[in-house]
Amino acid sequence: MNGDEMIKRWHIMSEEVISGVAEWRQQHPKATFREIEDEVDKRLAALRARMMTDVAVQSAQTEWEEGERAAVCPSCGAELVKKGKKKRKLQTRGGQEVELEREYGVCPRCGQGIFPPG
Ligand SMILES: [Zn+2]
Repeated sequence: MNGDEMIKRWHIMSEEVISGVAEWRQQHPKATFREIEDEVDKRLAALRARMMTDVAVQSAQTEWEEGERAAVCPSCGAELVKKGKKKRKLQTRGGQEVELEREYGVCPRCGQGIFPPG
């Protein structure tokens, strides 16, 4: 996925957030300030998680491709052996679970499996 496609995807998702909140507002005309806040937060959290996932995946790819020296074992410094892509689950502060598919490496010296860079 290139940067343009990523931005296009974010635009689509932002529009869904905007129209979703507008629609919800019509269905809940008497919502309290707190309820509105919860609803907006919930919808923004999904967009936030998507953006974080896309940016994280892209930075990881960039670092692995550009700097072969960056992909070393943090314990012993040996160069990692690429093992293909592996999924990794992370939690955002908003409590959303995101799944990152990243290049995975194993240290040939100490056998540690790592997702560079961190
Ligand atoms: Zn090692």
